[in-house]
Amino acid sequence: MKKNSLKQKVLFYLAIFTLVIIGGLWFLQVLSLGTYYEISKTSTIEKIAKKVHDSYDDKDYKDILDNLAFEDDVCIEITNKYNIYYSTDSASRGCLINNSESINKFKLNFMKNNNNNSATYKVINPRFKNKTLIHGIKLDEDIFAFISTSLEPIGSTVSVLKTQLIYITIIVLIIAVVIAFIISKKISDPIEKIINNSKLISKGKYNTNFKSGTDIEEIKELEETLNNVAVELSKTESLRRELLANVSHDLKTPLTLIKANAEIVKDLTYKNKEKREKNLDTIISEVDRLNLLVEDILDLSKMQTVETELNIEKFNLGELVKNIINKFDVLKSDGYIIEYEGFDVFVKADKKKIEQVIYNLINNAINYTGDNKKVYIKLIDIDDNVKLEVIDTGIGIEKEDLNYIWDKYYKVDKKYKRVSYGTGLGLSIVKNILNLHGFKYGVESKKNTGTKFYFLVKKQKM
Ligand code: ADP
Repeated sequence: MKKNSLKQKVLFYLAIFTLVIIGGLWFLQVLSLGTYYEISKTSTIEKIAKKVHDSYDDKDYKDILDNLAFEDDVCIEITNKYNIYYSTDSASRGCLINNSESINKFKLNFMKNNNNNSATYKVINPRFKNKTLIHGIKLDEDIFAFISTSLEPIGSTVSVLKTQLIYITIIVLIIAVVIAFIISKKISDPIEKIINNSKLISKGKYNTNFKSGTDIEEIKELEETLNNVAVELSKTESLRRELLANVSHDLKTPLTLIKANAEIVKDLTYKNKEKREKNLDTIISEVDRLNLLVEDILDLSKMQTVETELNIEKFNLGELVKNIINKFDVLKSDGYIIEYEGFDVFVKADKKKIEQVIYNLINNAINYTGDNKKVYIKLIDIDDNVKLEVIDTGIGIEKEDLNYIWDKYYKVDKKYKRVSYGTGLGLSIVKNILNLHGFKYGVESKKNTGTKFYFLVKKQKM
């Protein structure tokens, strides 16, 4: 057993618990039983003495005395210095136990000492070691009552209890050890398994299964959480590999194009204005694409690392959308049409980040729209909110992909790269920003018909 292990701890605390309980029992039963018994007996005979005293003038006095003696198993004696007037006990045998020498001495002393109204005395018989409790009370001039009872039976009771308690102690300690082992095994076995599996995960074996079949709810939850962590880690790992491949491919193509075009300009077309312009345009547009790619990556990493603060301000959403659409004007020459339907409406948000959201959505719509090259952007008034919709008439998204498109680096069709030059980061940035704002957003799509991305913002007064 390891030092400070769960097993050791459980065993230790259970053993302490057992010892405390057994110790308490020993103390109460064995050590203090005698004392407790004496105290309670003393109080009983004192109460009887009071009754004996109070009913002294009663005409049924003897019956009362017989009753008292019988009920509480005591012996009552009414006497003066020379004669015993009446004596009774539970078996109506006369008070035999009262005849020892030391008891007689107590009685004589008590009667001589007239100023004593009552007193209790414990007598131990020197021959048989049996104890007697005797209480004297003055009833009248020269008339006294003595109530006595034997304390004897307690000694044997205690010794029976002692042997019983020794057995109980041993049995309970054994049970405690067994229970401690069962409990700690139930808890520590699954935990040990979790530790071993976690070690596998840290070595990169993500397909580890944490389920140990335990019925302890907390451990079950821990196992489920770790299973999810393993799944997420393996996803991230494969996405990381994929991204590395994608990004390096995406970086390599424009770089090759840039280099090739630059060489052509240098060697062949530097004199031919038209051809040179064309080569240089290619270089510029490829550099732009590279820029976009790098910006995407930077934005996302910024958003993932620092819990980004929002710079909330009030602005005109309609105006912002129009400005963004203007940036896509260059695409008009390629036949793209962006149709806008909207109005002036003020909202409160981080303007730069919302601009990025709208830009990414329009960019995607253009990348994935169909041959009619049409994209619709609409602002719609809904109660307290304004809804921005970005709609394309393109390839659409399969139902099973809809949940994943918001994930980092996720691309539906990996062969589609050449058209989009995407990193799979655009929507994950959108999601991050809208979540930060707490805005509702979503997507509706139909394969080969088109896609609608939207989000809702609360309207502000103009
Ligand atoms: P990417 O840079 O690849 O466009 P995004 O995160 O912006 O990355 O989008 C993730 C994936 O979602 C895309 O690769 C694409 O498959 C799909 N997608 C996004 N927008 C659209 C759209 N308007 N129409 C069809 N598919 C889309």
